[in-house]
Amino acid sequence: MNRFSYLQAESLEGALAALAADPGARLIAGGTNLLDLMKYDVEQPDRLIDITRLRDLDTIAETADGGILMGALVSNTTIAYHPLVAGTFPLLSSAILAGATPQLRNAATAGGNLNQRTRCHYFYDAALPCNKREPGSGCPAIKGVNRNHAILGASTDCIATHPSDMCVALAALSASVHVAGPQGTRTIAMADYHRLPNGSPDRDTTLGAGEIVTGIELPAEAQRFAEHRSYLKLRDRLSYAFALVSVAACLEMGSGGAIRDARLALGGVAHKPWRRPQAEEVLIGRKPDDASFAAAADVLLEGAQGREHNAFKIEFARRAIIRALTQAAAGTPQSQSDKRIA
Ligand code: SF4
Repeated sequence: MNRFSYLQAESLEGALAALAADPGARLIAGGTNLLDLMKYDVEQPDRLIDITRLRDLDTIAETADGGILMGALVSNTTIAYHPLVAGTFPLLSSAILAGATPQLRNAATAGGNLNQRTRCHYFYDAALPCNKREPGSGCPAIKGVNRNHAILGASTDCIATHPSDMCVALAALSASVHVAGPQGTRTIAMADYHRLPNGSPDRDTTLGAGEIVTGIELPAEAQRFAEHRSYLKLRDRLSYAFALVSVAACLEMGSGGAIRDARLALGGVAHKPWRRPQAEEVLIGRKPDDASFAAAADVLLEGAQGREHNAFKIEFARRAIIRALTQAAAGTPQSQSDKRIA
């Protein structure tokens, strides 16, 4: 680990000024990913700016239109069990509880969850080339061990996957990310927050230089998916493992038993949570049965490309989508405490 200086920011303005003054600095809050990256010499910041005292970013509140705004410093545990979230956006609670361990969820923040880096093992080995760590050096995962890697949206630059569960639910719920920066504040749609690796695999997000995530907003309209939703996470062991494939499935059922609206997002398959509105449109007006769900899965997985160790993920994801939609339609969402697949 390199030597670095440490600054305790007392205000958002102070943190923004410190970041602007030192492009080599990194923000730290829970530190559950950054400290690992520093220990592995993947990140070598010359300064850490501690933002844990920015109390304005540590709250969950209802917005004027009935949605929810969660501060960037709220812990994953607090979000998952908060009555506003668990009651009206249970998909998000479920996705968070599917991730990591209780200890990690207690420390990890919403902003850190958004900005965590891939868990590609080559990325964490500073002795090996990696386009994400050092653009232009190569991607050993393409011909190497790539069981956990992407089947959608990848490129010869990078085939890494985004590791978050929370973000898959946020994508399905059409959340937006609030940021502050040198030019003021702005909001980024969740679909546009993470990016595909093409051209610049070192950049995971569309966050600009000197910008800080201040919060995540859940829109009120997504509450209609509270009853028929499921977050299904498939992995090599039942806890403390990243997804091989995960599915956030949301349905709004019409009075005649047909699907009125749907949302679908995948984790573990791409450089970002994978959502394709055309797959959701396939479901509208159809009966909630295997044929409808398979049709949506085929659209969502269109163009999927497997490699030596992860080609199984294409059929695996297809079956997971059908299973998650079946759970959502029945109103029997996947339990994250009893992990047996319903
Ligand atoms: Fe690096 Fe991406 Fe290749 Fe992994 S997949 S080795 S992160 S370039």
